[in-house]
Amino acid sequence: MPRSIECLLQQTSAQLVTAGSNSPQLDSVVLLCHVLDKPRSYLLTWPEKQLDDSQFEMFSTLLARRIAGEPIAYIVGEREFWSLPLKVSPSTLIPRPDTERLVELALEKIPLGKCQVLDLGTGTGAIALAIASERTDIMVTGIDLRPEAVALATENSQRLTITNSCFLSGSWYTPLTLQPQFAVIVSNPPYIDEADPHLIEGDVRFEPKSALVAEDNGLADIRLISEQGRQYLSPNGWLLMEHGFEQGAAVRTILEQLGYVQVSTSQDYAGLDRVTMGCWLGDHL
Ligand code: GLN
Repeated sequence: MPRSIECLLQQTSAQLVTAGSNSPQLDSVVLLCHVLDKPRSYLLTWPEKQLDDSQFEMFSTLLARRIAGEPIAYIVGEREFWSLPLKVSPSTLIPRPDTERLVELALEKIPLGKCQVLDLGTGTGAIALAIASERTDIMVTGIDLRPEAVALATENSQRLTITNSCFLSGSWYTPLTLQPQFAVIVSNPPYIDEADPHLIEGDVRFEPKSALVAEDNGLADIRLISEQGRQYLSPNGWLLMEHGFEQGAAVRTILEQLGYVQVSTSQDYAGLDRVTMGCWLGDHL
Protein backbone atom coordinates (compact mmCIF):
# COMPACT_ATOMS: atom_id res chain seq x y z
CA MET A 1 0.00 0.00 0.00
CA PRO A 2 1.39 3.46 -0.90
CA ARG A 3 2.33 5.51 2.13
CA SER A 4 2.22 9.11 0.98
CA ILE A 5 -0.24 11.41 2.75
CA GLU A 6 -2.08 12.15 -0.49
CA CYS A 7 -2.53 8.48 -1.47
CA LEU A 8 -3.50 7.43 2.04
CA LEU A 9 -6.16 10.13 2.23
CA GLN A 10 -7.67 9.00 -1.05
CA GLN A 11 -7.58 5.31 -0.29
CA THR A 12 -8.85 5.47 3.26
CA SER A 13 -11.70 7.78 2.30
CA ALA A 14 -12.78 5.21 -0.28
CA GLN A 15 -12.51 2.38 2.30
CA LEU A 16 -14.53 4.36 4.82
CA VAL A 17 -17.26 5.06 2.26
CA THR A 18 -17.57 1.32 1.75
CA ALA A 19 -17.60 0.79 5.52
CA GLY A 20 -20.58 3.16 5.81
CA SER A 21 -18.97 6.16 7.55
CA ASN A 22 -20.97 9.33 6.96
CA SER A 23 -17.84 11.49 7.20
CA PRO A 24 -15.16 9.50 5.30
CA GLN A 25 -12.93 12.40 4.24
CA LEU A 26 -12.97 14.04 7.65
CA ASP A 27 -12.32 10.69 9.39
CA SER A 28 -9.23 10.11 7.21
CA VAL A 29 -7.89 13.61 7.89
CA VAL A 30 -8.49 13.33 11.65
CA LEU A 31 -6.79 9.90 11.84
CA LEU A 32 -3.79 10.99 9.83
CA CYS A 33 -3.31 14.20 11.84
CA HIS A 34 -3.53 12.14 15.02
CA VAL A 35 -0.92 9.61 13.87
CA LEU A 36 1.47 12.31 12.59
CA ASP A 37 0.69 14.60 15.55
CA LYS A 38 0.37 17.51 13.12
CA PRO A 39 -2.34 20.08 12.29
CA ARG A 40 -4.53 19.76 9.19
CA SER A 41 -2.48 22.35 7.28
CA TYR A 42 0.46 19.91 7.36
CA LEU A 43 -1.44 17.38 5.21
CA LEU A 44 -2.00 19.99 2.51
CA THR A 45 1.54 21.34 2.67
CA TRP A 46 3.27 17.94 2.49
CA PRO A 47 1.04 15.66 0.37
CA GLU A 48 4.02 13.62 -0.88
CA LYS A 49 5.43 12.94 2.62
CA GLN A 50 5.69 9.21 3.42
CA LEU A 51 4.64 7.62 6.72
CA ASP A 52 7.42 5.65 8.42
CA ASP A 53 6.88 2.04 9.56
CA SER A 54 5.58 2.77 13.03
CA GLN A 55 3.30 5.59 11.81
CA PHE A 56 1.93 3.35 9.09
CA GLU A 57 1.30 0.50 11.53
CA MET A 58 -0.47 2.81 13.95
CA PHE A 59 -2.54 4.32 11.13
CA SER A 60 -3.59 0.86 9.88
CA THR A 61 -4.64 -0.23 13.39
CA LEU A 62 -6.70 2.90 14.00
CA LEU A 63 -8.27 2.74 10.55
CA ALA A 64 -9.37 -0.86 11.20
CA ARG A 65 -11.13 0.33 14.38
CA ARG A 66 -12.92 3.08 12.46
CA ILE A 67 -13.92 0.60 9.73
CA ALA A 68 -15.41 -1.57 12.50
CA GLY A 69 -17.63 1.42 13.41
CA GLU A 70 -15.91 2.79 16.52
CA PRO A 71 -16.48 6.55 16.88
CA ILE A 72 -13.57 8.69 15.68
CA ALA A 73 -13.66 10.66 18.96
CA TYR A 74 -12.93 7.51 21.01
CA ILE A 75 -10.18 6.44 18.62
CA VAL A 76 -8.28 9.72 18.84
CA GLY A 77 -9.46 10.36 22.43
CA GLU A 78 -10.54 13.93 21.77
CA ARG A 79 -13.51 16.01 20.59
CA GLU A 80 -13.90 19.75 20.33
CA PHE A 81 -16.88 21.38 22.07
CA TRP A 82 -17.46 25.14 22.28
CA SER A 83 -13.95 25.49 20.76
CA LEU A 84 -12.50 23.60 23.76
CA PRO A 85 -10.49 20.46 22.92
CA LEU A 86 -11.85 17.87 25.38
CA LYS A 87 -10.52 14.44 26.18
CA VAL A 88 -13.21 11.80 25.77
CA SER A 89 -13.36 8.15 26.75
CA PRO A 90 -15.83 5.28 26.29
CA SER A 91 -17.11 5.96 29.82
CA THR A 92 -18.67 9.22 28.60
CA LEU A 93 -21.01 10.42 25.87
CA ILE A 94 -19.25 12.16 22.98
CA PRO A 95 -20.20 15.85 23.16
CA ARG A 96 -22.65 16.82 20.36
CA PRO A 97 -22.73 20.15 18.50
CA ASP A 98 -26.44 20.50 19.38
CA THR A 99 -25.57 20.58 23.07
CA GLU A 100 -23.82 23.91 22.40
CA ARG A 101 -27.37 25.28 22.09
CA LEU A 102 -27.97 24.33 25.74
CA VAL A 103 -24.81 26.27 26.66
CA GLU A 104 -25.94 29.36 24.71
CA LEU A 105 -29.35 29.33 26.38
CA ALA A 106 -27.90 28.76 29.85
CA LEU A 107 -25.48 31.67 29.41
CA GLU A 108 -28.47 33.94 28.69
CA LYS A 109 -30.08 32.90 31.98
CA ILE A 110 -27.07 33.22 34.28
CA PRO A 111 -27.45 36.50 36.18
CA LEU A 112 -24.76 39.15 36.33
CA GLY A 113 -22.42 38.93 39.29
CA LYS A 114 -21.25 36.09 41.46
CA CYS A 115 -23.43 32.98 41.46
CA GLN A 116 -23.28 29.21 41.13
CA VAL A 117 -24.23 26.93 38.25
CA LEU A 118 -24.74 23.17 38.34
CA ASP A 119 -24.32 20.69 35.45
CA LEU A 120 -25.90 17.29 36.13
CA GLY A 121 -24.54 14.22 34.31
CA THR A 122 -21.50 16.20 33.21
CA GLY A 123 -19.62 13.37 31.44
CA THR A 124 -16.50 14.93 29.85
CA GLY A 125 -17.41 18.18 31.64
CA ALA A 126 -18.28 19.74 28.26
CA ILE A 127 -21.25 21.89 29.33
CA ALA A 128 -19.77 22.88 32.70
CA LEU A 129 -16.42 23.84 31.16
CA ALA A 130 -17.98 25.78 28.29
CA ILE A 131 -20.03 27.83 30.78
CA ALA A 132 -17.11 28.27 33.18
CA SER A 133 -14.85 29.41 30.31
CA GLU A 134 -17.36 32.12 29.36
CA ARG A 135 -18.14 33.27 32.90
CA THR A 136 -14.90 33.28 34.85
CA ASP A 137 -16.62 35.22 37.65
CA ILE A 138 -18.92 32.33 38.64
CA MET A 139 -18.41 28.82 40.01
CA VAL A 140 -19.62 25.81 38.04
CA THR A 141 -20.10 22.38 39.62
CA GLY A 142 -20.42 19.25 37.50
CA ILE A 143 -21.77 15.97 38.86
CA ASP A 144 -21.58 12.51 37.30
CA LEU A 145 -22.49 9.07 38.57
CA ARG A 146 -19.33 7.54 37.14
CA PRO A 147 -16.06 8.25 38.97
CA GLU A 148 -14.20 7.76 35.62
CA ALA A 149 -16.22 10.60 34.11
CA VAL A 150 -15.50 12.83 37.12
CA ALA A 151 -11.77 12.08 36.75
CA LEU A 152 -11.94 12.88 33.02
CA ALA A 153 -13.87 16.13 33.53
CA THR A 154 -11.37 17.17 36.22
CA GLU A 155 -8.49 16.36 33.86
CA ASN A 156 -10.15 18.42 31.11
CA SER A 157 -10.55 21.37 33.48
CA GLN A 158 -6.87 21.14 34.43
CA ARG A 159 -5.62 20.83 30.83
CA LEU A 160 -7.69 23.87 29.88
CA THR A 161 -6.84 25.70 33.15
CA ILE A 162 -10.50 26.40 33.82
CA THR A 163 -10.15 26.90 37.56
CA ASN A 164 -13.71 28.04 38.36
CA SER A 165 -15.11 24.53 37.99
CA CYS A 166 -15.24 21.48 40.23
CA PHE A 167 -16.52 17.96 39.68
CA LEU A 168 -18.20 15.55 42.11
CA SER A 169 -19.22 11.94 41.85
CA GLY A 170 -22.70 10.69 42.73
CA SER A 171 -26.24 10.19 41.51
CA TRP A 172 -27.80 13.51 40.40
CA TYR A 173 -28.07 15.84 43.42
CA THR A 174 -26.86 13.39 46.11
CA PRO A 175 -23.31 14.80 46.55
CA LEU A 176 -24.74 18.26 47.40
CA THR A 177 -25.86 19.80 50.67
CA LEU A 178 -29.58 20.48 50.54
CA GLN A 179 -29.98 24.23 50.05
CA PRO A 180 -31.18 26.61 47.33
CA GLN A 181 -27.74 27.50 46.01
CA PHE A 182 -27.79 27.49 42.20
CA ALA A 183 -28.87 30.33 39.90
CA VAL A 184 -28.96 27.91 36.98
CA ILE A 185 -29.09 24.12 36.73
CA VAL A 186 -28.32 22.55 33.33
CA SER A 187 -28.37 18.96 32.23
CA ASN A 188 -28.05 16.79 29.16
CA PRO A 189 -29.44 13.67 30.84
CA PRO A 190 -30.18 10.27 29.31
CA TYR A 191 -33.47 10.65 27.42
CA ILE A 192 -33.69 7.90 24.82
CA ASP A 193 -36.26 5.12 25.14
CA GLU A 194 -34.70 1.66 25.39
CA ALA A 195 -36.62 0.49 22.30
CA ASP A 196 -35.40 3.37 20.08
CA PRO A 197 -33.80 1.89 16.92
CA HIS A 198 -31.37 4.85 16.86
CA LEU A 199 -29.43 3.02 19.63
CA ILE A 200 -28.19 0.31 17.30
CA GLU A 201 -26.82 2.66 14.62
CA GLY A 202 -23.51 4.51 14.21
CA ASP A 203 -21.55 6.03 17.09
CA VAL A 204 -24.21 5.54 19.79
CA ARG A 205 -23.59 1.76 19.69
CA PHE A 206 -20.25 2.44 21.40
CA GLU A 207 -21.42 5.00 23.95
CA PRO A 208 -22.42 4.11 27.55
CA LYS A 209 -26.10 3.14 27.71
CA SER A 210 -26.33 4.78 31.13
CA ALA A 211 -25.69 8.15 29.43
CA LEU A 212 -28.30 7.56 26.74
CA VAL A 213 -31.24 5.50 27.94
CA ALA A 214 -33.87 6.38 30.53
CA GLU A 215 -37.05 4.63 31.65
CA ASP A 216 -40.56 5.95 31.23
CA ASN A 217 -40.20 6.69 27.47
CA GLY A 218 -36.87 8.37 28.18
CA LEU A 219 -38.39 10.84 30.67
CA ALA A 220 -37.52 9.30 34.06
CA ASP A 221 -34.31 11.25 34.70
CA ILE A 222 -35.74 14.51 33.33
CA ARG A 223 -38.61 14.13 35.82
CA LEU A 224 -36.28 13.42 38.76
CA ILE A 225 -33.99 16.36 37.91
CA SER A 226 -37.00 18.67 37.61
CA GLU A 227 -38.65 17.52 40.82
CA GLN A 228 -35.57 17.65 43.04
CA GLY A 229 -34.14 20.73 41.32
CA ARG A 230 -36.74 22.86 43.11
CA GLN A 231 -34.82 22.33 46.36
CA TYR A 232 -31.47 23.41 44.92
CA LEU A 233 -32.42 26.40 42.73
CA SER A 234 -32.11 29.84 44.27
CA PRO A 235 -35.22 32.05 43.99
CA ASN A 236 -35.89 32.90 40.32
CA GLY A 237 -33.35 30.27 39.28
CA TRP A 238 -33.59 28.49 35.94
CA LEU A 239 -33.54 24.81 35.04
CA LEU A 240 -32.58 23.97 31.43
CA MET A 241 -32.53 20.44 30.06
CA GLU A 242 -31.69 18.90 26.71
CA HIS A 243 -34.16 16.29 25.43
CA GLY A 244 -35.26 14.34 22.38
CA PHE A 245 -36.83 16.20 19.45
CA GLU A 246 -40.27 14.72 20.18
CA GLN A 247 -40.21 15.30 23.95
CA GLY A 248 -40.76 19.09 24.11
CA ALA A 249 -44.44 18.96 25.06
CA ALA A 250 -43.93 16.21 27.65
CA VAL A 251 -41.05 18.07 29.32
CA ARG A 252 -43.02 21.33 29.41
CA THR A 253 -45.88 19.48 31.10
CA ILE A 254 -43.52 18.01 33.71
CA LEU A 255 -42.10 21.45 34.54
CA GLU A 256 -45.50 23.17 34.63
CA GLN A 257 -47.03 20.49 36.87
CA LEU A 258 -44.13 20.90 39.29
CA GLY A 259 -44.78 24.66 39.54
CA TYR A 260 -42.08 26.09 37.29
CA VAL A 261 -43.09 29.25 35.40
CA GLN A 262 -42.09 30.81 32.06
CA VAL A 263 -41.73 27.30 30.68
CA SER A 264 -40.59 27.20 27.04
CA THR A 265 -38.82 25.02 24.50
CA SER A 266 -36.02 26.09 22.17
CA GLN A 267 -34.81 24.47 18.98
CA ASP A 268 -31.41 23.09 18.00
CA TYR A 269 -29.44 24.09 14.88
CA ALA A 270 -31.57 21.76 12.77
CA GLY A 271 -34.76 23.52 13.95
CA LEU A 272 -35.84 20.61 16.17
CA ASP A 273 -37.13 20.94 19.75
CA ARG A 274 -34.06 20.28 21.91
CA VAL A 275 -33.97 22.32 25.14
CA THR A 276 -36.79 23.05 27.59
CA MET A 277 -36.44 25.51 30.45
CA GLY A 278 -38.43 26.81 33.36
CA CYS A 279 -38.01 29.32 36.17
CA TRP A 280 -38.43 28.38 39.84
CA LEU A 281 -39.71 31.34 41.84
CA GLY A 282 -38.55 29.88 45.12
CA ASP A 283 -41.89 29.34 46.84
CA HIS A 284 -42.11 26.76 49.58
CA LEU A 285 -42.79 23.27 48.30
N1 GLN B 1 -28.91 13.43 21.31
C1 GLN B 1 -28.20 12.22 21.55
C2 GLN B 1 -28.53 11.19 20.49
O1 GLN B 1 -29.61 11.19 19.98
C3 GLN B 1 -28.48 11.63 22.90
C4 GLN B 1 -27.94 12.42 24.01
C5 GLN B 1 -28.56 12.03 25.33
O2 GLN B 1 -29.13 10.98 25.52
N2 GLN B 1 -28.42 12.88 26.25
O3 GLN B 1 -27.68 10.42 20.13
